[in-house]
Amino acid sequence: MNLAESVRSIPGVGDKFVGLLGKLGIVTVEDLLLNYPRRYEDYSVVSKIKDLSPGEVTIQATVEKITGRYARNRRLHITEATLSDDSDKVKAVWFNQAYLAKSIARGEELYFSGKYELSRNGLTIQNPTWEKVSEFHTSTARIVPIYRETKGITSRQIRNLVQQVLPLAHKLETSFPEQLNKTQISKIITNLHFPESSDELLQAKRAMAYQELFILISASQLAKREHHLLRAPIISFNEKLTKEFTSSLAFKLTDAQRSVAWQVIKDMQHEIPMNRLIEGDVGSGKTIVAALAALQAIKQKFQVALIAPTEILARQHAENLSKLFEPFRINVVLLTGGAKTASKKLTIQSISSGEAEFIIGTHALLEKDIEFNRLGLVIVDEQHRFGVKQREKLQQKPLQMPHLLSMTATPIPRSLSLTVYGELDISLIDQMPLGRKPIETKVVRQSNREKVYKHIDEQIDLGRQVYVICPLIEESDVLGVKSVQAEHERLNTTIFKHRKIGLLHGRMKSAEKEAVMDKYAKGVFDILISTTVVEVGVDVANATIIMIEGAERFGLAQMHQLRGRVGRSDYQSYCYLLPTNDDYISKRLKAMESTSNGFRLAELDLKLRGPGAVYGTRQHGDLDLRFAQLDDTKLISQVQRDVKIFLDSDDISGYPRLMEKIMSARAVTQLN
Ligand code: ADP
Ligand code: MG
Repeated sequence: MNLAESVRSIPGVGDKFVGLLGKLGIVTVEDLLLNYPRRYEDYSVVSKIKDLSPGEVTIQATVEKITGRYARNRRLHITEATLSDDSDKVKAVWFNQAYLAKSIARGEELYFSGKYELSRNGLTIQNPTWEKVSEFHTSTARIVPIYRETKGITSRQIRNLVQQVLPLAHKLETSFPEQLNKTQISKIITNLHFPESSDELLQAKRAMAYQELFILISASQLAKREHHLLRAPIISFNEKLTKEFTSSLAFKLTDAQRSVAWQVIKDMQHEIPMNRLIEGDVGSGKTIVAALAALQAIKQKFQVALIAPTEILARQHAENLSKLFEPFRINVVLLTGGAKTASKKLTIQSISSGEAEFIIGTHALLEKDIEFNRLGLVIVDEQHRFGVKQREKLQQKPLQMPHLLSMTATPIPRSLSLTVYGELDISLIDQMPLGRKPIETKVVRQSNREKVYKHIDEQIDLGRQVYVICPLIEESDVLGVKSVQAEHERLNTTIFKHRKIGLLHGRMKSAEKEAVMDKYAKGVFDILISTTVVEVGVDVANATIIMIEGAERFGLAQMHQLRGRVGRSDYQSYCYLLPTNDDYISKRLKAMESTSNGFRLAELDLKLRGPGAVYGTRQHGDLDLRFAQLDDTKLISQVQRDVKIFLDSDDISGYPRLMEKIMSARAVTQLN
């Protein structure tokens, strides 16, 4: 047998089983070996019968007596056995395993693992698993691996298959450099499936974690090295201009804004392209910092592009920034998707002629037919909303790259930025403009729904506006999740029929969306029912309540973003979270009540739901860590050292399989 062969070649595996294994993603023998246990049950302590106490137990005993009978009244087949060791005797009971009395021979020495508990016959071991002491045991008297199962296939069956092919583990090719390969792969695999001790298991897991981190960190370090080969235009610091700009503002910059702006200005003075992410909570004032950077570049005759994830947001930026730059006579243009109208063609022309200086838009800016004239700086707003390929699209000539400044309110936890995004420099705006009132947040039980509606009514009476957020568009889901359309219909015809309600979702045409947003911003609508399209950036200062339906479906960082739609003025604002039903009220949701810090929420979600769930596959490819713990800073720094040595040594091409894995992790480690 060899690794590439189908599992069919394992003795005793027939068509049906091949199909079932296929469901679990196990096709070849190698798949079987690489199908790591989900968890383990520790049956490694073998007890003397006289020492047994209730709970999961393992004994080594001989069968003195075994009988089977059908209990008509209970409609059960019952097998009973008396087991003994040199200390005492104990009863074991199995239900509905009629073949047992025949397959277990009297006098044989066996391991039994199972639950020792009180039943109608006194203390017995219930439904124990049993194996011969003389043979390799997979399911008793050891740390027992539990695999992902599917109907018709149990962990025990998988164990038996794995045990049969385990001798082939030595054929698994290691992709790791010898000097790093501290443990043989066959040993790691063997110990993951059938560890002889918890210590062995821990070491095997650690070895796997090491490899996962090694691949990720190599990918991110390679990206950094390549980045350093790129060149961007040098944009020098214009102090006079900066002073003019800051004194034209209606407010004073916070210290945090100042220091981040300074970092950005310094970056742009280098010929290595800036690759900086500004992280700052919703409302911390990131836009002004970006505007200051843009001003420097534009006044040195470079074009600047600002990319926003939605049209609504792009439009809003264009309006605000045009106003802000009025004293500086800058030609600001807006370019969004959709039909190529005559005016859009003119805009595109002005971009390529260089007449357009500050170009604001959506993804449309990345399309092939947009040619910039001398792009010096690209600003990406709400960076977490973008995919991984954008950055490459901005590369105009080989090795030439504009400076890149991204902004996000969904912070990347430090653990991730260290491991995965090594090429990124991060600045924090960790301070809010003065005078903001914290938003009052409540997780609401269904029985208190009416109270929320009452409060909404009161606020509207005071002239305020409200958002209602729902997770889905259509009433097609079985989960009973509120859909925007159905909820719009419901509120419009019942509780809020005396109010003006707008509807907004991602599948509307952009002109429609714009019209709705516009009306809401102007106060025509009292209530806006929306999907998460309003999640990012949208700024309606008069809104004071946001009610989030199906709250359990959202990530904490995302809800925090949504919450940031209110609290944008001096009015006290409120955020109400309504899970689909009360059972979904969780510690995770409750964290929203006590924490107004986006970072802490993101870290918490990372811990509770893992990086995949928090960052989504859209951006992070298959950042799927089975073994590595991102808070294991000791291991992370060890891997960082090893990766450096590995990449500095000249023969990385000597490890094609490893390089293949590293390259596929590149998609994960690249932001923008
Ligand atoms: P975000 O970081 O969420 O993108 P914005 O840049 O949109 O936040 O800023 C939110 C609001 O705060 C804007 O109306 C902006 O003009 C205002 N703002 C920014 N900086 C300050 C400051 N230092 N003091 C007062 N208001 C500010
Ligand atoms: Mg913003």
